Amino acid sequence: MALTGLEVFKLLPNTNCRECGFATCLAFAMRLAAKKIEAEECPYLSEEAKEILGASAVPPIRLVEIKSGDKSVKIGEELVMFRHEKKFFHQTAFSVCIDDSEDEREITEKLEKIKKINFERAGEILKLDLIAVKDTSGDKQKFCKTINLIKNFIDLPLILFSENPEIVTVGLEEIPDDKPLIYSANNENWEKMTELAKKYNASLAITAEDGLKGLSELSERIKNKGFENIVLNPKCRSLTEILTNYTLIRRLSLENNYRNLGYPIILYLENEDNFINSAVGICKYASIVVFNDVNDWEYLPLLTLRQNIFSDPQKPLQVEPGIYKVGEPDESSPVFVTTNFSLTYFIVSTEIEGAGFSGHLIITDAEGLSVLSAWSAGKFSGEIVGKFVINSGIENNISHRNIIIPGYVAVISGELEDSLPGWNVYVGPQEASDIPSYLKEVWSKEN
Ligand code: SF4
Repeated sequence: MALTGLEVFKLLPNTNCRECGFATCLAFAMRLAAKKIEAEECPYLSEEAKEILGASAVPPIRLVEIKSGDKSVKIGEELVMFRHEKKFFHQTAFSVCIDDSEDEREITEKLEKIKKINFERAGEILKLDLIAVKDTSGDKQKFCKTINLIKNFIDLPLILFSENPEIVTVGLEEIPDDKPLIYSANNENWEKMTELAKKYNASLAITAEDGLKGLSELSERIKNKGFENIVLNPKCRSLTEILTNYTLIRRLSLENNYRNLGYPIILYLENEDNFINSAVGICKYASIVVFNDVNDWEYLPLLTLRQNIFSDPQKPLQVEPGIYKVGEPDESSPVFVTTNFSLTYFIVSTEIEGAGFSGHLIITDAEGLSVLSAWSAGKFSGEIVGKFVINSGIENNISHRNIIIPGYVAVISGELEDSLPGWNVYVGPQEASDIPSYLKEVWSKEN
């Protein structure tokens, strides 16, 4: 049960010794109750307080792991309703369904398509995480053959998709070292499915026809059997139901500490409206989305949406400060300087390369802020940039002393020239999209 700030406060020594970094025990208690810090940061907790705080610290949404070899997908353990309150921890896992009634050629084609879904964006590789093997044939041999075909082709953790415990059993026997997700247990098969999940170290998705009440009752029965690696499948018939039920589950788990629904959610999309429903699922609060099939063009926006929702809002995506080569620069190539906000880096480097130029791109440490934000925060002044350029050692790589700064911070050009004696400061364009014309029409004519 989550404790309030005052309840936590009553467990603390109330000496206000400040060793935890807070001015008072009350301030510490408030932060601890909001799950922003760890109890261990107070070295003076009694054993009883540690025990009570430890029990209250059990995550309101259980962490579930699905695994194959060194590929692991972790879902759940979320602490907030909205990402700006802290952050979301485990991104929605994407899975595609492979039907065991399809022939080998169709399955191989689908697997090849899955393998090709691999995009790089802002320094991260975006791809699918799981494969669901769906038993529609009702044939144990076909189910096993499909599992083996998949495993030989691609190494991703599996969802064993069948309500028949006998089919699930042979599937589990094919992959004894994995930790798959079984999909799914219902009011009829739950006892057998729970035994199987326990025996094979798998996790178990549960489905109930009678709404959240039925789902809650089923999860309680399974929990009473000593099994907790549960994933909820709230059956929803419309977008509104997805939004309402998923939000209700998250709210009941986090705000009411309602343990029967304190598990990650799986969304299985059978219909045409995959795109909108999956986008809503990513935002509100599906831990796994299973596509029956998706058009190629749909993956990139969905993976991009996922990346944006699950990035830490308090930490901008950033790249390591330093000198980056764009293309194959030589000693006469232009030198650009900008901040280490990932998107800035990727957009600027792409525009330079796209213009058919090579260059040296100096990325300063601006704590991941974009150019204007960094300048307003005093992290991209002429003096700071000048020192960074000198310490970077770029002077050893080039024969000229010309540097191009972003047009939005033209104001730092004078200070930068003072910090870089002997250098010429060029004010580049404000928008990265104008870099190609700048290089062709300004830089090339003057250098
Ligand atoms: S370290 Fe513990 S006792 Fe000291 S101020 Fe912090 S919470 Fe209070």
